[in-house]
Amino acid sequence: MNERARMLDQYASRVYKNRKDHVLQLEDTPGVPEITANTRTVPGIITNRGCCYAGCKGVVVGPLKDCCVITHGPIGCGFYSWGTRRNKAAASEGGQNYIPYCFSTDMQESDIVFGGEKKLKAAIKEAVDIFHPKYIMICSTCPVGLIGDDVHAVARQAEEEYGITCVGFSCEGYKGVSQSAGHHIANNGLMKHIIGTGDKRPAGKYSLNILGEYNIGGDGWEEERILKRIGYDIISVFTGDGSVEAIQNAHTADLNLVMCHRSINYVAEMMKSKYGTDWLKVNFIGVGATIKSLRDIAKYFGDPDLMARTEEVIADELAAIGEDVEYYKNRLKGKRAGIFSGGSRSHHFQALLKDLGVETIIAGYEFAHRDDYEGRDVIPQIKEDADSKNIENLTIDADPELYKTRYSDEVMHALREQLPVDSYPGMIPDMKSGHIVVDDYNHVETEMLLKLYKPDIFFSGIKDKYIIQKSGVPSRQIHSYDYAGPYAGFKGAVNFARDITMSITVNAWGLIVPPWKSEPMLEGALTGGGE
Ligand code: SF4
Repeated sequence: MNERARMLDQYASRVYKNRKDHVLQLEDTPGVPEITANTRTVPGIITNRGCCYAGCKGVVVGPLKDCCVITHGPIGCGFYSWGTRRNKAAASEGGQNYIPYCFSTDMQESDIVFGGEKKLKAAIKEAVDIFHPKYIMICSTCPVGLIGDDVHAVARQAEEEYGITCVGFSCEGYKGVSQSAGHHIANNGLMKHIIGTGDKRPAGKYSLNILGEYNIGGDGWEEERILKRIGYDIISVFTGDGSVEAIQNAHTADLNLVMCHRSINYVAEMMKSKYGTDWLKVNFIGVGATIKSLRDIAKYFGDPDLMARTEEVIADELAAIGEDVEYYKNRLKGKRAGIFSGGSRSHHFQALLKDLGVETIIAGYEFAHRDDYEGRDVIPQIKEDADSKNIENLTIDADPELYKTRYSDEVMHALREQLPVDSYPGMIPDMKSGHIVVDDYNHVETEMLLKLYKPDIFFSGIKDKYIIQKSGVPSRQIHSYDYAGPYAGFKGAVNFARDITMSITVNAWGLIVPPWKSEPMLEGALTGGGE
């Protein structure tokens, strides 16, 4: 029995039937095997997923610093989206930054019975009076959809009344099978109401948007630092340290870079259809991956000066980190890792682990779709189910004035042969025979994976972190990097190597004496019966 069979063997037949196609053990056969993804979790299983609202507010819209994001719903929904993801943001000069705040309508039972629109209007007024924001976003939670509050009508009314931009999102938690649905809804809202509404032209010769970069622990700042050194003009970042003000001008950029494919590929595709902007899949996690991405971007523009400048910056950055990377590599070589995150991180970090000589033997995503595992070529084969039909798919036409293409079809064809333009090969092709890939993994499978594979380190999400830690396996929370970072780019790779070397080599468990070894057992006597 291989590891996959042993993992699935514990299930009752109905659960087995559901889970078997979500778990793959890779074999030495040609082609990319099919995995089942983006379907409902088995009721009763402790999944690590979040809800649709969490995807809209917590991932995409929440990191926008210059808008007040109001959670319309009970305070419990808002709590989880408050500061838990460490989206770093700094106000631009004279700009606004509301990231440290959590705005909620705090719906109570009476609002559920009599409707919550009045309370939402009052919350908007309060936010306008106190903070004077130029932009307000309203994110809906489950009760809002159930009672039928019209957040879009309230948003339109607020726009008229206060002369601000106000956008409502129907991202009720139950709308999709996971937070992935919330990303799609958020992307649609940004496309309909924000992107293309600005008219500021790029200042530099080559301009970029960075899509799917949420500036966890400062990753986005490190990427911007390197790109700016080469000479790129960064128009906007979706959405880490991002602003609505910048995103309004996103359509003026020459190229979109896509970091987290899952959360933002919708915007990349819609901008391609409407403005003709190509997108390139990049990965700035890992030294080798960063170098490849920088070279790919320069190749896309095909300017010899830009390519030369790119090589200069790469050489300089490498010289600064070379010694440190070698030191950590010597200590980490031969270690084995497991990694489970929400979107593309499980793939991105494999590149960095490989740089350090660490093999990723188990991996998976919480809310990915088949294309995140198998690559975008699989998209035509994915059948739409009732849950995906629930999410609006915008029909986007080319903008008659703003649509422009940089290259002819022939040039694009040649570029696609060499670069990941408008494409993403997915995670599975980078894994090897014997490795295990698990979609929407759960508590019981986490314990099994630890027992069967005995990884040296396990990168987890928010809910699963402590199961791993309590098992005595070093764990780092890869959604928000615990309290560390940045991990992107060249300097980030050293931070990551240092942190995981500490996790693996510090003998914390050996230094702790459990209380039952040093203190006498509790003594007690039975009492009762009034005596
Ligand atoms: S599932 Fe619904 S109730 Fe639960 S956190 Fe998400 S929006 Fe709130």
